[in-house]
Amino acid sequence: EAALKTLPDISPSSLTTTTTTTPKSILPPSELIFGRTFTDHMLSIEWTASAGWLAPRITPYQNLSLDPATCVFHYAFEAFEGMKAYKNPAGEISLFRPDKNMARLNRSATRIALPAFDGAALIELIKEFVRLDERFIPAEKGYSLYLRPTLIGTQRTLGVGPPGSALLYVIASPVGPYYPTGFKAVSLEATTYAVRAWPGGVGDRKLGANYAPCIVPQLQAAKRGFHQNLWLFGEEEYVTEVGTMNFFACVRDKTTGKVGLYTAPLDGTILEGVVRDSVLDLARERLVPQGWEVREERYTMGWLAEAAEEGRLLECFGTGTAAVVSPVRKIGWRGKMVECGLKQDEEAGETASLMKGWIDGIHYGEEKHKWSVKV
Ligand code: PMP
Repeated sequence: EAALKTLPDISPSSLTTTTTTTPKSILPPSELIFGRTFTDHMLSIEWTASAGWLAPRITPYQNLSLDPATCVFHYAFEAFEGMKAYKNPAGEISLFRPDKNMARLNRSATRIALPAFDGAALIELIKEFVRLDERFIPAEKGYSLYLRPTLIGTQRTLGVGPPGSALLYVIASPVGPYYPTGFKAVSLEATTYAVRAWPGGVGDRKLGANYAPCIVPQLQAAKRGFHQNLWLFGEEEYVTEVGTMNFFACVRDKTTGKVGLYTAPLDGTILEGVVRDSVLDLARERLVPQGWEVREERYTMGWLAEAAEEGRLLECFGTGTAAVVSPVRKIGWRGKMVECGLKQDEEAGETASLMKGWIDGIHYGEEKHKWSVKV
């Protein structure tokens, strides 16, 4: 351990850049499909157990060449992040709380014996990469450049052990607004037959291995007409999170009449969302002074259904980097339909709209905020 600490960390000043000789054409913004097209370049940094982090490279976007025995293909040594670069009307580019993504990637990586790294150094390199591929970020509000930092074990071995080599790379995909014509409330199906995460497990880490098993429950929910599934945990059926979003419910208390913003606690059963944390902070700063309560605690599906029946469930929404906020209309649960407080002609509740407005305001530079990091 002591020897490992002395190995070189990521060094932005060692960066070498090879630019493409075949620049891609830019798609019209309306034709962008999430995660389908990528920019001209990629950022790569190799790591070995004996030499630490090697010199970072920006190169043309290209295929990886890996031996079929590489450990990532067999034992899922893979962790990733999802973050965005935004362009404001003045053409200035920013990241949103990138330190949070770096801290999370470090937590994910170290849980599966992949190397930790200096997050601030990777942010510097990501800025360099974003500046180089800046022309891919549409200037219109709602558009952004989705960044996918990925860390894989690259050792060529079928032996089950800590990878002796790794590759950290970042690719970028221009993306359009999640709701091009304004909010669209989604319907959820509470999943009672499969579990995504459990205390002591790894569901709170952003590991690729957590995502493949979610597709079948998602397809099952879709087959029955729901947009996404809602993950419950335990016999109590605690509400945890939605597909790939954290989940919030605004519930009026039976006795005090106070409105609480409820979300599951960080107890291992949910991913530590950057937007979740931001919504909680904004609620504490801007809603609590108006009499709201922020309730980061366990609550069950049965409790939520009861609040809905009694007219005390005011609204529900999911949060995540992709949509920022995604209002929820109803939840199918054990053959019942739990209505989440929206009127028939309403696509979003007040709180979801407020949060989306505040956070997008920070993304696109309308509000100066410490969370916005200039590129
Ligand atoms: N939960 C899961 C399972 C996710 O994959 C994501 C997306 N990273 C989120 C929640 C939302 O996290 P964030 O706000 O950081 O995008």
